[in-house]
Amino acid sequence: MIFDVSMSIDKNIQVYKNADEKTPIFKTIANHQENNYHETKLMMNLHTGTHVDYPLHMIKEGKTSDTESLNKLIGFCKVIDFTDCEEKISQADLEKHQIEADDFLLFKTKNSFTDKFIFDFTYLDSSGAKYLKEKQVRGVGTDGLGIERNQKDHNTHKILLGADIVIIEGLRLKDIQPKKYQMYCLPLKIKAVEANPARVILID
Ligand SMILES: [Zn+2]
Repeated sequence: MIFDVSMSIDKNIQVYKNADEKTPIFKTIANHQENNYHETKLMMNLHTGTHVDYPLHMIKEGKTSDTESLNKLIGFCKVIDFTDCEEKISQADLEKHQIEADDFLLFKTKNSFTDKFIFDFTYLDSSGAKYLKEKQVRGVGTDGLGIERNQKDHNTHKILLGADIVIIEGLRLKDIQPKKYQMYCLPLKIKAVEANPARVILID
């Protein structure tokens, strides 16, 4: 069974804080009537929909997409149900689950149950990020458009990215049972940037 856990990108896709400038713009630059072929130009933020964040996003002179390793993005992952964590996921919530070194954890939260941006989306706090760093996980994916929200100093991002823990944001996990899957996360190959949109599939 293959599960596509990526967002569909269209002009109505949810964007961070519903900011107009983050909404993708599709422009038809050739059509069959006038040109005998069809072409579309897309202008969008690299953090649109499901995407991978690289250290440069929050760390000055941090690593970019050029340093990405597919070894981290392809492999087993564990989907964990945090739908009972209304506001945030902290160390105490993580401690209830078996987390091991090299795990790639995907957090299923209330965020997966709407396609609209929710301003109070569930996030990972810095105690949780520190705990995951101690556990030496490989990566962490969230169904929110941010791994944290309005946290001063962006500590969650900095702790994870500083420890080379991969962050995937904007997953869709509503229909996914919490358990182990084989994950394939394939970001676009745009060079030297701080994020890349990705297609993520889980195989049961
Ligand atoms: Zn991002």
